[in-house]
Amino acid sequence: MTLLPTKFGIYGGQFVPETLMPALIELEREFVSAHNDPAFNAEFDKLMASFVGRPTPLTYAKRLSEKLGGAQIYLKREDLAHTGAHKINNALGQALLVKRMGKRRIVAETGAGQHGVASATVAALLGLECVVYMGVVDIARQEPNVFRMKLLGAEVRPVTSGTQTLKDAINEAIRDWVTNVGDTHYLLGSALGPHPYPTIVREFQSMIGREAREQMLRDVGRLPDTVIACVGGGSNAIGVFSGFVNDEGVELIGVEAGGSGIASGKHAARFGDPSKGRVGVIHGTRTYVLQDEDGQIAETHSISAGLDYAAVGPEHAMLCDNERAFYTSATDAEALNAFQVLCHTEGIIPALESSHAVAEVIKRAPTMRKDQVILVNLSGRGDKDLNTVIKEIGELETRDLETRD
Ligand SMILES: *Cc1c(COP(=O)(O)O)cnc(C)c1O
Repeated sequence: MTLLPTKFGIYGGQFVPETLMPALIELEREFVSAHNDPAFNAEFDKLMASFVGRPTPLTYAKRLSEKLGGAQIYLKREDLAHTGAHKINNALGQALLVKRMGKRRIVAETGAGQHGVASATVAALLGLECVVYMGVVDIARQEPNVFRMKLLGAEVRPVTSGTQTLKDAINEAIRDWVTNVGDTHYLLGSALGPHPYPTIVREFQSMIGREAREQMLRDVGRLPDTVIACVGGGSNAIGVFSGFVNDEGVELIGVEAGGSGIASGKHAARFGDPSKGRVGVIHGTRTYVLQDEDGQIAETHSISAGLDYAAVGPEHAMLCDNERAFYTSATDAEALNAFQVLCHTEGIIPALESSHAVAEVIKRAPTMRKDQVILVNLSGRGDKDLNTVIKEIGELETRDLETRD
């Protein structure tokens, strides 16, 4: 059986210890066979409809479009998927593969807890054992999601190494996988890691783009001029981009976390900061990585945990180099403003990650004509972010009051 390309141009590949190669090869074979198996696809589609709630709607953002006075804005509503974000699409796809491989246990990593919740959810649905690795720093700041995972029957293992955040949790999950590879699958949460993960995750997220393309043609009668998505590891973006990448006239825009601003050094803009974002190898793949002069992984910052990662999926690195997609960033403050604008104009509370994409819409729509169309992927809902937002806005309001006095 010929398998999938292992690289995206010079990016991607399999930079892993030899002990993992059999597992990666098995995963690739199983994925290719499942992908070509109508019964697998039928089961996946059925659960997508009956459990996840797909297709998610396409919503015309009428008041936001009017307020910005330029392009017409449409939202792809991944916030309405079960568990509140696009992550469930990939988690459920991989969990069905686990069943097919005859394994009984999944390990996952999580930063904000969203991928951990999605993994715990599908493990409960399909009767799999689930262990989620999470840095102790993240456990402290994401308490409700830790409780959710436990309610769903997962074991949350605190990670105390390194910076005690996502990248260390990934290291621990990989370590567990190497040790228990006979009965365990590593359920990777974004379009990252060694081949075949970036391809598998893209395919399990590709219904976002497929549905959105059909919905645009059906409801609007045309394709969008511009598609905008936020980019953490890059799974929601690659999912929506994949529906339009062959439509040459459609511009693809990825939005990274600008944090406190590129100049501050406190951000996660892998493409946006040439002084730190360079080609390197991390977690099994070659891609753009934020690093210091010695090639050590740089510390990152973002108001949204889901975008706060030093590397980006290898397919995005290729799309950036060959200029099929363009990458920009939004700062914490811009994302927070966009969050509130969408709440007020559309009655939708977006995730802080998704708010980065909305921030780019706010910059771009007014420069476009009224007969032009923007599609923005609303990757998740903001309920998980309320504590962060209340703290930040609370401070803003206090500051406002102080200035007024
Ligand atoms: C995890 C997450 C992201 C970032 O991950 P990608 O793989 O880049 O999509 C974006 N939005 C939401 C709501 C998330 O939970």
